[in-house]
Amino acid sequence: MRCVVTGAAGFIGSHLVERLLNEGHHVVGLDNFITGQRANISLLERFESFTFIEHDICEPLSIRGSVEIVFNLACPASPVDFRSSAIQIMRVCSEGVLLMLKLAREKNSVFVQASTSECYGDPFVHPQPESFWGYVNPIGERSPYDEGKRFAEALIMAHRRLYGMETRIARIFNTYGPRMRLGDGRVLPNFIQQALENKPLSVYGEGDQTRSFCYVTDLVDGLVRLSRSSEPYPINIGNPHEVTISEIAREIIELTASRSEIAFQPLPEDDPKLRQPDITRAQKLLTWEPTTNRSEGFRKTIEYFRTLLDQSPSNR
Ligand code: UDP
Repeated sequence: MRCVVTGAAGFIGSHLVERLLNEGHHVVGLDNFITGQRANISLLERFESFTFIEHDICEPLSIRGSVEIVFNLACPASPVDFRSSAIQIMRVCSEGVLLMLKLAREKNSVFVQASTSECYGDPFVHPQPESFWGYVNPIGERSPYDEGKRFAEALIMAHRRLYGMETRIARIFNTYGPRMRLGDGRVLPNFIQQALENKPLSVYGEGDQTRSFCYVTDLVDGLVRLSRSSEPYPINIGNPHEVTISEIAREIIELTASRSEIAFQPLPEDDPKLRQPDITRAQKLLTWEPTTNRSEGFRKTIEYFRTLLDQSPSNR
């Protein structure tokens, strides 16, 4: 198979490309490096069946030859990007998705969208099933991403209805693992770097908000299974083990044997209080569920950041 993966230099994108290449497929990776990392592309370039094009998906693109699947993962996704890259996020979720749908339509490919648990906003249904329509502030700081991703889902469903396209939508919950960006602003890169440097861990609010963290290779397996299914409606892909942010801070301090303490900081606007996927549909329709437990995943992620920090002491 020949696949196009947008956001190929990103954290999840690069793991997905690696998985597809290891299975013997050809991959054309696209990224404009707004948040992706060149080092991730260097890792993939050892495969002959990988082609990389530096490209912003908001600009037109033609690709020669057949394409069986378009995986659309391009989009800044850390809450710190929601303010600084607000307009780019809204463009990539509208113009970018439209152009990638056009490509998929021309090539008669399956279109797989990396959507998000942010579609549920600050949910009042818990855990979140796909049938929950969400509770999103349309004008808040998170809205460029939340509403962008919701618009993208609508755009994709409209293409499906109008043109009979084969489309899939994964609602991805918090994901972690090696190749996350140092200084990315998300909770695990922050806590792990702070713990390794024996600095205070920045817990926002009172730390009683919850998240459910999925290890990246489990997530990628869910995406691949979804691409090979015929399921047109959104499917939650995430780990249902829910934990408070304070508990995460304690676990990271313990696993890194750090001397760090906890420093409470203000809670960002509209930060969801609870988040946990209901993965019944993924279990049933994709025969998928995560298999990596948190301490195993955390250890691998900590090792990755330790090596990275050791290699670049200027980051300290
Ligand atoms: N968070 C925190 N300290 C940090 C970064 C994040 O306490 O240094 C909290 C944040 O307020 C949120 C949770 O951790 O409740 C997860 O945040 P993240 O930015 O990783 O992603 P989100 O799930 O909000 O999209």
